[in-house]
Amino acid sequence: MKKVAFYTLGCKLNFSETSTLARQMEQQGHRRVEFTDQPDIFIINTCSVTDNADKKCRKIVREAQKINPNGYVAIVGCYAQLKPEEIAEIPGVDAVLGASEKFRLHELIPTFEKAPPPQTGEPVRAQVFNSPIDQAIDYHVSYSLNDRTRTFLKVQDGCDYPCAYCTIPLARGRSRSGTVASVVAAAEAIAQTGVKEIVLTGVNIGDFGLVNGGPRTETFYDLVRALDAVTGLDRFRISSIEPNLLTDEIIAFVAQSKRFVPHFHVPLQSGSDTMLGLMRRRYKRGLYADRVAKIKELMPHACIGVDVIVGHPGETNDLFRETQQFLLDLPVSYLHVFTYSERPNTTALTIKPTVPGNVRADRSKMLHGLSDKKRRAFYESQLGRTATVLFEESDTDTDRQTGLMQGFTENYVRVVAKYDPLRINELMPVQLININADGFVEVLDAETPVDLHPAFA
Ligand code: SF4
Repeated sequence: MKKVAFYTLGCKLNFSETSTLARQMEQQGHRRVEFTDQPDIFIINTCSVTDNADKKCRKIVREAQKINPNGYVAIVGCYAQLKPEEIAEIPGVDAVLGASEKFRLHELIPTFEKAPPPQTGEPVRAQVFNSPIDQAIDYHVSYSLNDRTRTFLKVQDGCDYPCAYCTIPLARGRSRSGTVASVVAAAEAIAQTGVKEIVLTGVNIGDFGLVNGGPRTETFYDLVRALDAVTGLDRFRISSIEPNLLTDEIIAFVAQSKRFVPHFHVPLQSGSDTMLGLMRRRYKRGLYADRVAKIKELMPHACIGVDVIVGHPGETNDLFRETQQFLLDLPVSYLHVFTYSERPNTTALTIKPTVPGNVRADRSKMLHGLSDKKRRAFYESQLGRTATVLFEESDTDTDRQTGLMQGFTENYVRVVAKYDPLRINELMPVQLININADGFVEVLDAETPVDLHPAFA
């Protein structure tokens, strides 16, 4: 039995996979410990969406070495799939496992013993277990069980889309998923743990239904309907879905569902059709606006989050202004703003003109400002209403010091209330009163339990 610790970089999908790897290691008799608790084994799950991710990985390996110089260090995740040899050179790394190998940790590394230094005095070279990405066809159901309130449930992996700026298909392979039955079984297992909310995650979850490279026999719509019938869970949240895959039937289903919450996070990337073409996205802005209108028609109080990239090659000032104006006119609730960064082997590298770094930064600043305005306007539109909040465990010193606790309403309004241990992981009816200096909404207990969803009509 060894002490094993994990560190996760990146997205909800990575967190669900780390948690699953941790359960695998515990089933093998190892004990999970905190990263600073002198572990014998360090497993670092990496991301590679931006070049910062690479730097972060190096920093964490250095920290692991300081904590236990004899600790065994294994690197998994997207960076490990894309640049295994580069990682193998990092001093202190013992093993690198690619997308097809990460769930075979125990099979490939039975002992987790550091290799003795060679007589030649040369540094120990890490073992690399990495196969070409087109061999990554297996699908592993994964879910996080790190906190008591919500779980990230992986329902799909990989992507078949050709977006010009993105390396994810190169890091995670072709689009694939489990069956509806396998995901429902995972949700039922999660329901036994007392978790109240499941966040459906993946790379391109709307593309659910491709099992082992075979023809699509089930759809994301089928999955949503099947999960809605799982008992013992209060909420399902769709983490992100491509606009061209967000069908009328999915929107209509969420509008009448008591469990699927009225919160949609829909990547836009640009509000200019010229840029969407250069980015090789599969829709024009008209479709995006139509999806937003459909959601607001059926769920006026729904929360809509938007991914947008600034500084992508080809984005002139005029095209950026098109995006700004498009977002200004859209009734959306917040933006996730990403600054374009060059990624190897992506077609965006061939597009001219490139956008200087300072201009990228300026545009990012402008859209972050717009996002703050959108979120505030959305929160203000909710004041006075009653909602149901899932209160979370206070995980910040600030909360504990201030005697406050936080939670989210169905439609993703972040609320703050007086700390009460009896509220942790409880769904409580509240009235949204005002927005405090930190931008969180203060609430009062609502007398009567309110069954708000469907759609707050
Ligand atoms: S849809 Fe596009 S941006 Fe999203 S993972 Fe696939 S290739 Fe990347």
